[in-house]
Amino acid sequence: NKQVIFRDYITGLPKESDMHMTTDKIISLKLPKGSNGVLLKNLYLSCDPYMQILMKTIEGPSVFTSYTPGSVIMGNGVAKVIDSGHPNIKKGDFVWGTIGWEEYSLITTPEALFKIDHTDVPLSYYTGILGTPGLTAYVGFHEVCTPKKGEYVFVSAASGAVGQLVGQFAKLMGCYVVGSAGTQEKVDLLKKLGFDEAFNYKEEHDLDAALKRYFPQGIDIYFENVGGKMLDAVLLNMRNYGRIAICGMVSQYNLEQPEGVKNLMQLLYKRVRMEGFVVFDYHPHYSKFLASVLPYIREGKITYVEDIVEGLENGPSALVRLFKGRNVGKQLVVVAHE
Ligand code: NDP
Repeated sequence: NKQVIFRDYITGLPKESDMHMTTDKIISLKLPKGSNGVLLKNLYLSCDPYMQILMKTIEGPSVFTSYTPGSVIMGNGVAKVIDSGHPNIKKGDFVWGTIGWEEYSLITTPEALFKIDHTDVPLSYYTGILGTPGLTAYVGFHEVCTPKKGEYVFVSAASGAVGQLVGQFAKLMGCYVVGSAGTQEKVDLLKKLGFDEAFNYKEEHDLDAALKRYFPQGIDIYFENVGGKMLDAVLLNMRNYGRIAICGMVSQYNLEQPEGVKNLMQLLYKRVRMEGFVVFDYHPHYSKFLASVLPYIREGKITYVEDIVEGLENGPSALVRLFKGRNVGKQLVVVAHE
């Protein structure tokens, strides 16, 4: 069983050398007698920004638990069940959820996995649009941002796994949407996906001025993925009674000390609601979300862009790409094709 092992706690950005491959672990492809777990053949692994947080020692209250040095990297993924002791999951089923960065995983708590009932769409979508990033974009936009038709929406890290969907959900609601991203290629992609405007934040020396250019009338909804300077600039451009959904702050994850936010008084002046959310709290919404999004995919009303890397051995480099902004769309790794 080839595995990707986490070496030791890091500071700063993750490097490929913070992970290493082992090939020597022999596992049985049958479950031990009496087990009510499942044995999985892993197909697709998801690279996610939060994995950087798990590579550090976590201080203070958090929803995360760090990886253990010397153990296999865990993350979201899609797998085929090759043996099951669980009454609701059969051999041959496909599932998504937390699995190991390895060829085969033994999962002892299969109730935490989601069974895949719809296989007429690419299975890799369950790492993205039909998995955690999709649910995050959906509940973050519809439940936390409480959008109305015609509102002005800004999305940062807009071409990524979550951001590209927030923009498309906002367009389907009849909002005006602008996205920011880190390269011209991503900006062009956002326009193809239907964003009204997009800009490369790395080429703007004054983010406040850039936002004033795209939102002369101000922003009603900000879907926050990056934090830091972008949040400060957005605060200066919010409209009265605007909403900010704090989904993530990827620009802060590699910093020893998070940057301070200077313009919080704007929340008061403009009566803005800023609210963080954690997607796990919305797992009970998953069926409603699937019922809403699957038809959009089947009818071609939503496009989902994936950045696919082949081979478990290329997992560490794929994960590192995410933190350098090299991914265009949802970053995932193919371990095996069915
Ligand atoms: P993406 O696919 O958007 O990949 C990360 C992107 O972030 C990169 O491509 C890069 O895009 C941008 N980025 C990387 N480093 C920096 C930096 N230092 N400053 C600014 N931008 C940077 O990731 P996801 O769509 O999977 O995740 C988006 C956000 O959603 C993250 O903050 C993540 O933590 C959060 N999240 C939150 C969840 C929740 O429950 N609240 C659940 C899932 C995700 P670019 O080239 O445009 O800079």
